[in-house]
Amino acid sequence: MGLIRLLIIAALIYIAWRVFKNLLSRSQQADSPAASQQRQELMRKCAQCGIHVPDHEAFSHSGKHFCSQEHQRLYLDHHDH
Ligand SMILES: [Zn+2]
Repeated sequence: MGLIRLLIIAALIYIAWRVFKNLLSRSQQADSPAASQQRQELMRKCAQCGIHVPDHEAFSHSGKHFCSQEHQRLYLDHHDH
């Protein structure tokens, strides 16, 4: 009888440990998207070629954004005339 009780206690500890680890990893997973969202910068779409560049790397001109000065020039050459 003593052995069976020991096995039941061991099984309960094992289940409790699994549940605890599951909760721990779930809370870590819940933390990471929020942390990456904070790090994620505002992205600007280049009006010339359409690629996305971080806001601080983008060239802006009258509400339009460009990946490079070259594309800003190209776009304005095409659309100013
Ligand atoms: Zn571009």
